[in-house]
Amino acid sequence: MTRRMLIVGPPGAGKGTQSKKISEELGIVAISTGDIFRENIKGGTPLGQEAQKYVEAGNLVPDSLTNRLIEDRLSWDDAENGFLLDGYPRNLTQVEAFDEIIARLGVELDVVLELTAEKEELVSRLAKRAQQEGRSDDTEDVIRHRLEVFESETSPMIAEYSTRGLLKQVDGLGAVDEVNARIMKELR
Ligand code: ADP
Repeated sequence: MTRRMLIVGPPGAGKGTQSKKISEELGIVAISTGDIFRENIKGGTPLGQEAQKYVEAGNLVPDSLTNRLIEDRLSWDDAENGFLLDGYPRNLTQVEAFDEIIARLGVELDVVLELTAEKEELVSRLAKRAQQEGRSDDTEDVIRHRLEVFESETSPMIAEYSTRGLLKQVDGLGAVDEVNARIMKELR
C-alpha cells in the first residue's frame, strides 16, 4: 500500500478535503504547505510575516523558504512511516529540491495523485469557498491569478511526474465520497 504520496491539482480541485480522508484511511500524516503558511500568517510568526505578501497576492512563496519548511517538517517522527503532501512540490525547482530531501531521508515517492477538474467548476467552487471561509486569497482577481500560476508553474511539475511513471489521475468532479472512492480504488 502507498505510504509516500503527493496530491496535486489546480486550486479548488478538492485536494485539502481529500487529503484529510486519505490520511485517515491510510494512517499517514497529511501535510499542506498552504495550511502551514495560513496558520503562520494568522499567528504572526516570522515565517508568516515572510510568506504573507506572496500568499495574499496568489504568488508562490520563494522556493528556498518553502523547501526548508518541508525538509524540516518531513524530519518529524510522525512522517517516518509515510506522508501525503498537499501543495508541495509546486514547480520544477521544488521537484529538484524535493528529490534531494527524500534522498537524504532515504525514502522514495510511491505515487503522485492528480485531481482533475474543469476550469469553470474550479472558479465556482472557489467563489463559494470565499463566501464560506473568507480566505484572503479567494477574491476573484487572486483566484484567476492562482489558476494562471498553476498553469505556468505547476503543470510542468505534474508532467515531470507523469514522465517518471508516478502519476495517477482521478476525476475530482462529484460528491466528496464519490471522489474518495475513486481515489482509494486507484491507490489499491
Ligand atoms: P490552492 O491550491 O487552493 O491555491 P494552497 O492552500 O495550496 O491553495 O496554497 C495557498 C498559497 O500558499 C499559494 O497561493 C502560495 O502563495 C502558497 N504556497 C502553498 N504551497 C506552496 C509551495 N509549495 N511553494 C510556494 N508557495 C506555496
